[in-house]
Amino acid sequence: MKRVAVLTSGGDAPGMNAAIRSVVRCGIAKGWMMYGVKNGYSGLISGNIREIGTRDVGGILQIGGTILGSARCEEFKTEEGRLKGIRALRQLGIDALVVIGGNGSQTGNYYLHTLGFPVVGVASTIDNDLYGTEMAIGVDTALNIALEAIDRLKTTASSHQRAFLVEVMGRDCGYLALMAGIAGGAEYILLPEVETDPEEVAETLRLAYEHGKEHAIIVVAEGAKYNASALVKYFEQHKDRLGFKIRETILGHVQRGGEPSAYDRILASKFGYGAIEAIDRGDFGVLVGQNKDEITTVPLEEVVSHKKEISMELVKLARILD
Ligand code: ADP
Repeated sequence: MKRVAVLTSGGDAPGMNAAIRSVVRCGIAKGWMMYGVKNGYSGLISGNIREIGTRDVGGILQIGGTILGSARCEEFKTEEGRLKGIRALRQLGIDALVVIGGNGSQTGNYYLHTLGFPVVGVASTIDNDLYGTEMAIGVDTALNIALEAIDRLKTTASSHQRAFLVEVMGRDCGYLALMAGIAGGAEYILLPEVETDPEEVAETLRLAYEHGKEHAIIVVAEGAKYNASALVKYFEQHKDRLGFKIRETILGHVQRGGEPSAYDRILASKFGYGAIEAIDRGDFGVLVGQNKDEITTVPLEEVVSHKKEISMELVKLARILD
């Protein structure tokens, strides 16, 4: 009988609970003992680990956030911290660890693997910036929240001939902004990956106004060189030429909250199953993700040494459609 622990780490994402539930129930279905680690790597270091059963993960599928708690832990960035974590796992006789999280968490996970502890990662980040998987838990929900906000802003913008700058999360990755911009019919999308001249954005607004548009939506990725506040500052000097009144909305952490979408619940359930199957066949040091509609495992070494790129074809498409 195996003993397997699971933790959630870094930025929380809607669907993490569905992944915990799946890992625990798929493990128990194999006859294994399952353990939950509280508060990510800090709970691992302090040994905050307890057995977790089928009923403990009941009623959480539809809840955002993570019942295990998540934390950012500086100590885990040191080898000493990671060795403490491994000692805590070994004391309980734990054979393998599942880490549900994004880029930073999977980097920490990779280092655990290099220290010889059997680990499996599960791709979870609203930013979709994790190399080795086309999709991650939380992306779909966050995208739908951003889209709902854009749709609502369009309605109010029309009543007042306003242009809204909508800043969406994504750290230094423009995926969410690009997708929200395409789905929301934005007039312009600013991304960290594409150099943008703010004068071009101003010109787009001016033309839209001249053509009689009632509203304009500019989607801005938080990591873009000209984020919402930088653009507002720039536009303040060019008010006379814009036509529209400008308002900014920063979606921020609103995008992380709420109930996970059907897509995220299903993806998380599949990833949990994929993690347990990987452990069962001894496929360690890998990230469970989804590629071409299949659940895949990709070596963590590859994941942490590559940067995920956004599709330039979709950037081109967004330009044609705006
Ligand atoms: P995310 O997983 O959402 O990208 P973070 O980047 O905040 O979130 O990382 C979460 C945690 O993962 C950090 O608080 C730290 O404990 C661990 N971590 C991040 N980067 C490293 C690293 N280079 N080495 C070891 N652990 C790391």
